[in-house]
Order: sequence, then C-alpha cells, then structure tokens
Amino acid sequence: MRLLLIEDDPMIGAGVQRALRGEGYAVDWVRDGLAAELAVRDNPYELLLLDLGLPRRDGIELLQRLRAAGNTLPVLVMTARDAVADRIRGLDAGADDYLVKPFDLDELGARVRALLRRQRGSASPLIAHGPLQVDPASHAVTLAGKPVHLSAREFALLGALLEQPGKPLSRAQLEERLYGWDEEIESNAVEVHIHALRRKLGAEWIRNLRGVGYYLPEPP
Ligand code: CA
Repeated sequence: MRLLLIEDDPMIGAGVQRALRGEGYAVDWVRDGLAAELAVRDNPYELLLLDLGLPRRDGIELLQRLRAAGNTLPVLVMTARDAVADRIRGLDAGADDYLVKPFDLDELGARVRALLRRQRGSASPLIAHGPLQVDPASHAVTLAGKPVHLSAREFALLGALLEQPGKPLSRAQLEERLYGWDEEIESNAVEVHIHALRRKLGAEWIRNLRGVGYYLPEPP
C-alpha cells in the first residue's frame, strides 16, 4: 500500500516515513502543498498524511481543493498542540482524523490502519478472503488457520491483490503500489514476489491473465 506524506519539517517527515516503511507501506514524501497536489494526481495512493502549515499551498487549501475535485482518499491531519482551531478547520475541510504533534509513532500506525479499514468498508480489523486471513496490524497471514510467513513486500503485494479480488493488476500497477519514488526496483521484482507468494500459499491463489496482470480468484 502506498501512502503520501506531506510535511515540511525534516525531522518529523523522516521519522514518520521511517516508521511507516517499517510497517511495510511504500511512503512518498513531499514538502509542500503544490508538490502534494501533483503527486496525488499522478500516483495511486491509499491515504494522505497531511501537515497543515505548508509552503506553496496551505494544507487546508490543498484539502479543500482535493475534496472539491471529488477526491475521497482518507486524510490524516498532523497538527501542532496549540492549534485547536486548525484541527477543527481540517476536519471541516474533509479530513478523516488528526494527530497532535508530537505523536507516538505506534499510535500513528494504528490510526492509519483504522482509516484504511474504514476505507475498505470494513469494521473488522481482519481481512478475509475465503480461508485466507490477513491481519494488517500484526502482518499475520493464515490459510485455513495455518500461519503463512511473508516478507514485507510479499505482504504488501497480497494486500494490493486483496483490495479488488478478481480484478487483474498489471505489473506496472503493482510496482506503483509497492514502491515509493526513491526505491530501486529490480526489473523482475514483482514476478519474484509473485513466485514466492505462490510457493507459500499455493499456485491456485494467484492467477495470471496473460497480457493483463495478476489477480486473486474467488475463494474455493
Ligand atoms: Ca509545517
């Protein structure tokens, strides 16, 4: 899953990016509101982490513009402690949740998971697809009750395929969801991870539609 972090403070930005990458997300980081708007237009993000005091375009204005354009991405606002009015304006402008700086990075992770869960339209913290169960918090995966151990990338790949079972995603679409801008991608990285997932789950769990992409079939 790919997230966009919009934060001009280098310390906070680096800390948030590191923490969320550690949880297996691909995290792109921009430092101003204008760059954020371009990034949102061109990349398939699942969620935005938005600082409000930003150069070149204020966070509130950015949020209003996105919502006015019909963008429904979950937005988590990060604000300063004394800025109650900003938080209210953020929520009124279309933010889904907020955190007050300085915040605990574990709490940030939990709020991100909660927003992504709500975006999926699910109240349950577990994602189930037939006998396959995925826990986004612990990254635990079970198949018919048996644990399956996946690497962070394999987990992210499975997560991307679970977002829309039955609908193929091309290699390029999977790369976009798995990797941020500044990450090196080996040309066959997606195939390598698909191969590993098939080996661990069983080949029948990941189908290839020739020339189109990979998908999770309906569970047996
Ligand atoms: Ca700021």
